[in-house]
Amino acid sequence: MSIALYIHIPFCVKKCNYCDFNSFEALELIPAYLEALKKEISDLKGKGYTVSTVYIGGGTPTILKDEELVSLLEILHQSVHITSDAEVTIEANPGTLTRQKLLSLKTMGINRLSLGLQAYQNRLLKIMGRIHTVEEFEKNYETARKIGFDNINVDLMFGLPEQQVEDFYKTLEYLVGLCPEHISCYALSVEDGTPFYRLWQKGALPLPSEEDEREMYHRAVEFLTGKGYNHYEISNFAVSKRESKHNMVYWSYKDYLGLGAGAHSFFNNERFYNYTLIPAYIKSIQKSSSAVAYLEKICIEEQQAEFCFLGLRLLKGLSKEAFCRRFNKEITQVYGNVIGKLKKQGLLRENQKYLKLTTQGLDFANAVFVEFMP
Ligand code: SF4
Repeated sequence: MSIALYIHIPFCVKKCNYCDFNSFEALELIPAYLEALKKEISDLKGKGYTVSTVYIGGGTPTILKDEELVSLLEILHQSVHITSDAEVTIEANPGTLTRQKLLSLKTMGINRLSLGLQAYQNRLLKIMGRIHTVEEFEKNYETARKIGFDNINVDLMFGLPEQQVEDFYKTLEYLVGLCPEHISCYALSVEDGTPFYRLWQKGALPLPSEEDEREMYHRAVEFLTGKGYNHYEISNFAVSKRESKHNMVYWSYKDYLGLGAGAHSFFNNERFYNYTLIPAYIKSIQKSSSAVAYLEKICIEEQQAEFCFLGLRLLKGLSKEAFCRRFNKEITQVYGNVIGKLKKQGLLRENQKYLKLTTQGLDFANAVFVEFMP
């Protein structure tokens, strides 16, 4: 059975001011965590999985020492069959990369890097609490290229405090000059529990206006498509054949397994996730080889809704035929009224094969998705 595998490394040198991801500064827990993670990985042995994509995310996976990464990859290869053409990605934050580490990653079979730049202005990186400068990013990027990485994603963010539309435009221009194969552009979301949230509550977070934030997104679409990038998902752009295979699994509503603290899985129409806190994760694996903290069976109505709103994230749209194959029903039998309403509002359009968001629909994507909820 073919699956995608996500492996979570929940450690960071220092939490960024906007981050609510499952990551911690408790680096002293790394050895015990890796022992537990290796146990969870080796439990996949004998289950007959063929892995077509691996994504090592975090956190900051490149915070691990070379030998720790090597032994993790070794266990992985011993436990599952990874296809020869598999996409194997690691999130690699500037500030935690050296030439030696990049060389080791390449030797370990990692063939895709995802680097977090976020912004071209050091003053913005400082406000965000990032640990690196633009210069460090560029040095890491150039080294990765020299070593032979030919599939690099760079993450950008817009809607940042004190960010002007021109700042974001300069970021795009700078990045395109480096020719990465893939660019992700995500809007800042101010999440509860973060330093940004506390500032926002006090009215002390100088966010750009909603109009400026939208303009940044529109500029990204216009500029990047003009430079030959295919805008293939709401927030993602790639040169030909370099779309993220791993993320395509999520958007195509296919099965994936997540390993590590807080990692989510979707498998056989069940969704489950592991204990989020590192000590609870380790304890659970030691006791029972499983760290699942929550599992739910997804009812058919929810499956249909999720299939639709994940598929609509793709610019090529949601395949009506794929819906029919999966659910044995025409999409109009389930969502005829919703589709009619959204088309009338100018948010959706369709052709014979696909249903897709219009340009306006891209700006109101969440409002569209809600309409599909059971
Ligand atoms: S590097 Fe990423 S995961 Fe770590 S704190 Fe910053 S945003 Fe969060």
